[in-house]
Amino acid sequence: MLTAEISKETFLSSNVLDRIRLIDAIYSDRVIHLSSMQKTAGVLMHMIYRARSRAKIVFIDTQLHFPQTLEVRDQFREKYGLDIVTVTPELTPEEQNKKYGTELHRFVDGQPLCCHLRKELPLFNAVKKFRAKALITGLMRTEGNGRTDVQPVGSDPRIGCVVFNPLFDWSVNQVDDYLRQHGVPIHPFYAKSYASIGCAPCTTPINPGENDRAGRWRHLSEPNGSQPLYCNINYSDKLNETQKKI
Ligand code: SF4
Repeated sequence: MLTAEISKETFLSSNVLDRIRLIDAIYSDRVIHLSSMQKTAGVLMHMIYRARSRAKIVFIDTQLHFPQTLEVRDQFREKYGLDIVTVTPELTPEEQNKKYGTELHRFVDGQPLCCHLRKELPLFNAVKKFRAKALITGLMRTEGNGRTDVQPVGSDPRIGCVVFNPLFDWSVNQVDDYLRQHGVPIHPFYAKSYASIGCAPCTTPINPGENDRAGRWRHLSEPNGSQPLYCNINYSDKLNETQKKI
């Protein structure tokens, strides 16, 4: 059994839309889809719309996003009538800089704390606020790096939630095909050589031949070639020891 209620066979043999329906049937509105407004989130938000799922779509506004990321959120609201809940960190970036005496994201030993304050804690608060019992993420095995072994279902002991990864067996091509076939909004930065899009100070485009995660925290890359690859808002990323090797 994947969970007490959903069998592994049923979940794995279902398409992604039916996986969303299965989750909805069990968890109703006690499930959160954490949306980054990237392509995989676009697929899942569209599936949630099609399935009439009661999942809460939560967008963590770190207040350091590109304006275009907020525009993508607004497009999904307008086009599909989705009730996307925006949550923010306790402190503004300016208040955080003042408290810690620096811009934490600029330093290797400051980035984990910055991501904790501006991403993890807002998620924890949202889970508490909505009394969520489950999360839906867009992680895929074909992303490689630390996500090669992403499981269809896991858990996040930090928040006591079951974690569903309905796209775990999808490819980038499947994501692109789905978005194109259904006319789903796509973050405009993908057309500008960005492969993964997070906060503006920590995101750059990638060059031909570079790993898709190479544009994240590039300013923190070290002489041995390692750099942070994940913000660790996803517990499975946090567990993975290979996260700093591209
Ligand atoms: S991605 Fe960068 S700016 Fe955003 S929360 Fe993490 S360290 Fe801070």
